[in-house]
Amino acid sequence: MSYYKQSVPPVRDSRLKIGDSYAGNACDLVNCGRDGCLLQKGRGFWQANACQMALTLMMATTVENSVIVMHAPGGCGALMHSLSAQAAKGKGVRGKTPAAIPWLSTNLTEADVIGGGERKLRETIEYADREFRPEIIFVVVTCAPSIIGDDAEEVARQARSRVSADVVSLHCPGFRSRVVASAYDTFYHGIMRGLDLQPIPRADFLPLVQGPQAEAAEKKYLFQKSRTVNVWNATSIGAQDEQEVERLLTALGLKVRFFAEYSSREELRQVSEAALNVSMCNVHDDYMLKYLAEKFAVPYVIAGMPIGFRHTREWLLQIARHFGMEKEAAALAGHEEKLAREAIAPFLERVKGKTVLLCGGVVRVGAEATTLAELGFNVLGIRAYHYDEGAEPVFSDVAENLADTPVAVSNQLFEMTHQIKSLKPDLVISHNGTQGYIAKLGVPAIQLFSTDGAFFAYNGIYQILRRIVFEFKNTSYRDRLSRHIRLPYKQSYFEGDAFKYIINNST
Ligand code: SF4
Repeated sequence: MSYYKQSVPPVRDSRLKIGDSYAGNACDLVNCGRDGCLLQKGRGFWQANACQMALTLMMATTVENSVIVMHAPGGCGALMHSLSAQAAKGKGVRGKTPAAIPWLSTNLTEADVIGGGERKLRETIEYADREFRPEIIFVVVTCAPSIIGDDAEEVARQARSRVSADVVSLHCPGFRSRVVASAYDTFYHGIMRGLDLQPIPRADFLPLVQGPQAEAAEKKYLFQKSRTVNVWNATSIGAQDEQEVERLLTALGLKVRFFAEYSSREELRQVSEAALNVSMCNVHDDYMLKYLAEKFAVPYVIAGMPIGFRHTREWLLQIARHFGMEKEAAALAGHEEKLAREAIAPFLERVKGKTVLLCGGVVRVGAEATTLAELGFNVLGIRAYHYDEGAEPVFSDVAENLADTPVAVSNQLFEMTHQIKSLKPDLVISHNGTQGYIAKLGVPAIQLFSTDGAFFAYNGIYQILRRIVFEFKNTSYRDRLSRHIRLPYKQSYFEGDAFKYIINNST
């Protein structure tokens, strides 16, 4: 059965060849991913891992006029307090109403875990519909109901005939996947199964009455559609990145729409009315883009992230190729590169030869590492949170351009701490949420991404370098903090290999 027909989405662990434990170089990583040896790798010791529900919620909270129903014990919803504010801010900067998203929890107790929580879920969905009158109710199915066998899917199916909202179930129990990127598939699986993804006659458009005017109107519509691209965003991609991408694609004469975050139900119904779907990251949306190609015959482009001069040019060219506008895209990239190179020239002198360690999402760290190397940095190491076959093009590029650079697949903080202590980089560029740990080590660091700035294309490269130069200028907070912090590690831990706990499960 096609994945798309399953009521519960697949996890990346079964859909793709993945890995979360590796140390070596990019070339071996690509080969290890291809031949499956990555699947055999694990650790003798794990510090902690992340729950895919968090990322699914990050996406769901951005959808307009929706309500979240957590089918969970109370604790799983703790993240909603910060996510709700974050999503409201994201809506505001995109010109939408910055309303906080209402959320409810079935608050499963010990008695519910024994007797089942289906009744509570049904009542909570109906209450959410009555009280908030949303367009969409997201039912978030977590570990506890998945373990006890609550048929949340059947409850959601029955609820659809009793409530006015669309009910979208998101199955994201943390225990099902070692790779949090499964969360993206979970969100898209819910969207594709729970919502209409094509316009509804009379609700979204008035069918044309036959005649010459209708013919002209249809031709005009089809022309506009043939120039419309859907660009797929993600929580790590801020409004400034969207503006930069829109600026460039608009310069090529394309109409740009962003999905699926910060969209409404009505906007999502327009998804199928486009000439091309464009990804901004190989590992975010391949599941959805392949579905849209299969279901609505909308082709797609997945061409890495538009980070740095070379990757941005390639990303633009691949999109332009679809429209037969490669020459225009090359000219645009040439013009933009010239302007950006002039703008970053004062920064380059100050960062030349600086050593850097990069940690975070697999596509972003790969693209960022080759970009910084091209600008004169000395890349000491790349540490990707996970690896799957979607990242192969990016890491093949890393293998070609940074063949001797150590590459690890790790989301373990103790391994990152070890690397920082042993490699002693001038700068760490790392995933959000790790900045506090790095500050305690007294090392300059910037975030790998932030929704408050630009990281993509020409504006992005300028802002990244400006951030780095600023970070080098002012290190007093980190210097002083590191002098007063006692780390929870014995000195002997730092004497061995940073990745000594990685093991091969097949031996
Ligand atoms: S791992 Fe399970 S129990 Fe923990 S927050 Fe995630 S869904 Fe809830």
